[in-house]
Amino acid sequence: MGIHVWVLRIPALLQQAKAGEKVTDTDGIDPRSNAVTSKESQSEAEKWELLQAEVARCRKCGGLCETRTQTVFGSGNKNADWMLIGEAPGQQEDLQGQPFVGAAGRLLTEMIRAIGLSRDDVYITNILKCRPPGNRDPKADEAANCRNYLNRQIELIQPKIFLAIGRIAAQTLLTTDEPLSKLRGKVHSLNDTPLVVVYHPAYLLRNLADKKKAWLDLQFAMQTYREITN
Ligand code: SF4
Repeated sequence: MGIHVWVLRIPALLQQAKAGEKVTDTDGIDPRSNAVTSKESQSEAEKWELLQAEVARCRKCGGLCETRTQTVFGSGNKNADWMLIGEAPGQQEDLQGQPFVGAAGRLLTEMIRAIGLSRDDVYITNILKCRPPGNRDPKADEAANCRNYLNRQIELIQPKIFLAIGRIAAQTLLTTDEPLSKLRGKVHSLNDTPLVVVYHPAYLLRNLADKKKAWLDLQFAMQTYREITN
C-alpha cells in the first residue's frame, strides 16, 4: 500500500545517505521522489519526514480523518521547478496513497508530458491531504485546516512555477470565486511565485471538446516558465 512505502522507506534511505552510500530505489519509484538528493540537505530530509508523519496522523478535520483510508501527502521531485496542486484525493488516490492515479492521473501524466516533463520532474500534491467522502468539494474549514501542510511543502520545494489543477484548486489558492474561464490564460501569483491555472484532467475526461483549450493552457504555462527562467 502506498503509505507503507512512503513511511517506511524514508528512514532507510536517510540511513543510506548518512552512511555515504548511494541512495537506491528498491521499490521501483524514482529516488528523487522520496529520498535525499544532492540538492537536498539532511535537515531538509528530516523536515520532509516530520511533515509527512504529521500529516499521516492528522485529525484536524473530524469527518475526513474518520472516513479516509490514508492521507495522500504528495509525490514527485522535491527539488522541482514545477509544483502541481489539485483540490483533494479521490477514491483511487485514497486507496493507493498517491495523488492523481487512475484515469485522471494518466491524463495528468500526458499533460505533464506535453510540457516536456515526466511525473518525476514535478511535484504533485493537493490542497487537502484526505479524501472528502463521495468526492465532494473541499469545505472552506478543511482547506484552512490543511493549508499549513501545503505551505510547508511549498516552503521546502520553493518551486519556480505553480500549476493550479482545476477550478476548485485555483479558486482556493487564489482566494477568488471567479470562474475557470476567467482564471485561465493569466499569470497569477502565489507566494510571489507565478501560478497558471489549467483544467482538471477529470473534467477533461468528461469534456473532450475542451482538450484543445487545455493544450493552449499548457503551452501558456510553458511559455511563462521559459520567461521566468531565461
Ligand atoms: S484534510 Fe488535512 S487538515 Fe484535514 S484531517 Fe486531513 S490532513 Fe488533517
